[in-house]
Amino acid sequence: MLTNVMEEIVKSIVIMLMRGTEYQTFCKCEQCEMDIISLSLNTLPSHYVTTEKGRNAVFERMNSKENLEWINKRIIHSIHVIGKYPHRN
Ligand SMILES: [Zn+2]
Repeated sequence: MLTNVMEEIVKSIVIMLMRGTEYQTFCKCEQCEMDIISLSLNTLPSHYVTTEKGRNAVFERMNSKENLEWINKRIIHSIHVIGKYPHRN
């Protein structure tokens, strides 16, 4: 297996944020959601793992409050950028 743990985390945060009330006015089509995820991932370090054990260890390490706050900030920035130019690629 080859998994980017950062990608997993970013995807779940983006989906959670876009389902919430805070971003109701933003487009939620698949294209925009994928654009938000890819824009966020381009500004965040990737963390690839090859085993389930490695994945769990990295996930544990990255799942701290400070780390999630920092990732959240990047994602919120991306939501606003894509919100200004929706459905583009
Ligand atoms: Zn859209």
